[in-house]
Amino acid sequence: MKYRSYTVHNFRDIPQVKERLSPQEQFDIEVVAQVFPFKTNNYVVEKLINWDDPLNDPIFRLTFPQRGMLKDEDYETIADLLKKNAPREVIKEKANEIRMKLNPHPAGQKYNVPEINGVKLHGAQHKYNETILFFPKQGQTCHAYCSFCFRWPQFVGIDELKFAMKEVEVLIDYIKAHPEITDLLFTGGDPLIMKTKLLRQYIEPVLEADIPHLKTIRFGSKALAFWPYRFTTEDDAQDLLNLFREITQAGYHLAYMAHFNHYQELQTPEVQQAVENILLTGAVIRTQSPVLRHINDDPDVWATMWKKQVEMNMVPYYMFMARDTGAQHYFGVPLVRAWEIFRDAFKSVSGIARTVKGPSMSATPGKVRILGVSEVNGEKVIVLDFLQGRNPDWVGKPFFAKYDENAMWLDELEPYQGDYFFYEQQLREMLELEEEEVGI
Ligand SMILES: *Cc1c(COP(=O)(O)O)cnc(C)c1O
Ligand code: SF4
Repeated sequence: MKYRSYTVHNFRDIPQVKERLSPQEQFDIEVVAQVFPFKTNNYVVEKLINWDDPLNDPIFRLTFPQRGMLKDEDYETIADLLKKNAPREVIKEKANEIRMKLNPHPAGQKYNVPEINGVKLHGAQHKYNETILFFPKQGQTCHAYCSFCFRWPQFVGIDELKFAMKEVEVLIDYIKAHPEITDLLFTGGDPLIMKTKLLRQYIEPVLEADIPHLKTIRFGSKALAFWPYRFTTEDDAQDLLNLFREITQAGYHLAYMAHFNHYQELQTPEVQQAVENILLTGAVIRTQSPVLRHINDDPDVWATMWKKQVEMNMVPYYMFMARDTGAQHYFGVPLVRAWEIFRDAFKSVSGIARTVKGPSMSATPGKVRILGVSEVNGEKVIVLDFLQGRNPDWVGKPFFAKYDENAMWLDELEPYQGDYFFYEQQLREMLELEEEEVGI
């Protein structure tokens, strides 16, 4: 299959769109796509979406903009402008205004920018001791865009501070100077959107540097779900698999962090072949997804997905909470409900699939897991713990919040006792210190 992408400019060319969506439904897509990034492709359209009932199909909802993603007043504003044939710039300006209301930079991402010898690595993020994230400049896009994506500002061009960089040499110097780093995680966008030749320019210097404390190379990627041909029939697929093998044969653990949102993404012969090819290189595939209303807020979907992943020799790894950005009002699931979904799914799968952790919020202080709802002195409480902490000593200590059925994010929770959670004072000090150093 030859890659063909569809965006707001040509989605009406898709035969299934013409046949299955009314003019009003097509217009809704056009309206919402003015604000949120929209890109899908021929594999997603032809092989993943069930067009019998597209508006209720999870993969349709995953890549096509949904009417509900915009609040009514914002929808009307954009719709009016489009109907009036307003100039491009006017629509763009309005869209930007709406975007600015949608918390485009959640979870203190301006922090954690590493620095070595006075040089800042703007394309990297070092928040947890063991793992450094690296955003290769040319990997800041994807084979299709998820409608819920928290990286949306970088796809719609309002992000001047794209977390991306070119020079891998600086990254290597930084890792060398930080013996606590064991994992290098290439992320994006999708780093595997890069041609293998380009990807090699990032990987080969790392292998050549042969840093003794660096043990694991990870790729965070959605290519298995959105474009499995990357590992089967694409021109440089074989070379990509060769590169994977070079990494494992050099003695590294190669972890492919696969982003799957629904079991419907696991059913095609194409993805099954791609998974087999990757595993034959010695890589391990771990899977992760946010829990999303309208897409996968159902324990059966998760249990089916985890079971299928294990059957395909992948390792379920994380369930995340949808970030507090973009259309969270549409995709967000309350913390308590997310825990119920997690628990119902978790208890119905074999221990082999219970490698999964969650539901977890990637928040400013760390990855905070909702351990569950319990009772203290006859009063309901939410129990949480850190899976990763800005301070590693916070990890693994259960703590309590007041019960709140509607809370969707950490900052909406209140401590069960006292005015502050146990980490808050320390967190404030850490952030102030960093602000002084970075000069924010
Ligand atoms: C999730 C995450 C990691 C990786 O965490 P693991 O628990 O090791 O998978 C690293 N850095 C940041 C900023 C993260 O959000
Ligand atoms: S694959 Fe990841 S980075 Fe790309 S659009 Fe989806 S969530 Fe965003």
